[in-house]
Amino acid sequence: MEISITKTTAPKALPEDETKLGFGKIFTDHMFVMEWDRGAGWHDAKIVPFRNLSIHPSSTVLHYGSEIFEGLKAYRTADGSIQLFRPEENFKRMNRSAERMGLPQFDGEAALKALCELVKLDAKWVPHGSGTSLYIRPFMIGDDEHLGVHSVSHARFYIILSPSGAYYASGLAPVKIMIESHDVRAVRGGTGEAKCGGNYAASVRAGERAEEKGFAQVLWLDGVEQRYIEEVGAMNIMFKIAGKIVTPALTGSILPGITRKSILELLRAEGTEVEERRISVEELAEALEKGTLEEAWGCGTAAVVSPVGLLAYNGKEYVVGGGKIGATTQMLYDRITGIQTGVLEDKMGWVKKVL
Ligand SMILES: *Cc1c(COP(=O)(O)O)cnc(C)c1O
Repeated sequence: MEISITKTTAPKALPEDETKLGFGKIFTDHMFVMEWDRGAGWHDAKIVPFRNLSIHPSSTVLHYGSEIFEGLKAYRTADGSIQLFRPEENFKRMNRSAERMGLPQFDGEAALKALCELVKLDAKWVPHGSGTSLYIRPFMIGDDEHLGVHSVSHARFYIILSPSGAYYASGLAPVKIMIESHDVRAVRGGTGEAKCGGNYAASVRAGERAEEKGFAQVLWLDGVEQRYIEEVGAMNIMFKIAGKIVTPALTGSILPGITRKSILELLRAEGTEVEERRISVEELAEALEKGTLEEAWGCGTAAVVSPVGLLAYNGKEYVVGGGKIGATTQMLYDRITGIQTGVLEDKMGWVKKVL
């Protein structure tokens, strides 16, 4: 795949204060674009100055939610180089999402090459501060210019970059979580496994209600029986119950997180037993009552690991692990971020150097 590069003639000023970056609010000078047509396949791969899109008002994405995305980060190491964490996994997952959502397959290796080119070109935008990173957002939209409902004949693929601040401005902190017993995020056979915008649209209402009550996120139950633990907000969830680490098995409605996968692989490589299975809300409530729920944490690219300090269910509030960060939670956070930022040796071969 040939990528044509058009550099900006009006580079933007770099953010002055890295502590005020926040998340996803400012964007770099360039973006990657390619187009797809049924028949011709992917073509016109290019890096161009960051700009608004022009879209036909009847475009499929605007009416039928034909959209998938990914999220990963570029990290600045102590010696100033730039590296990615398991980026090939993101493009593999994106192709699985595309398959589910009636969008075209693409060459993951070519996309990764394009991503590296883009990050190199905008390398000065990768922030330096502890916990900061360059957030990378690949996404694909279906873009037929008519209102008929079909799998699309035109699609566009983009990668945009956003320098982002530390997720934990003042250190790793436990959050309060509410178990959601009304709305569901996904059902088996639905789109829960795909990283698509529609899943997010359907989940904001519950998240907002939880926030109004003082909770950071909701813990989703399965969409069939509303009984089994699935995810927390837009993160996977793990528990330490009576000394054993357990996480919901990927049953079809759970997003297969790369952070989740990495934690499981890391623990298993060291001989720690980890269970992937269904966990009912009754089992969790019992463990909370008996005090055997030692730790709970969410995991995902944004937060890496997010300790849960309190769980609310059926009008009751349970403190988890004394409301403090558990030893396993802290260890996993340190290990994963250590590998990502080059502080720890990458024995698993997960890191890809960009520059
Ligand atoms: C992206 C995402 C995750 C976490 O996946 P990572 O690859 O670890 O970032 C978990 N749940 C949902 C719903 C997601 O969209």
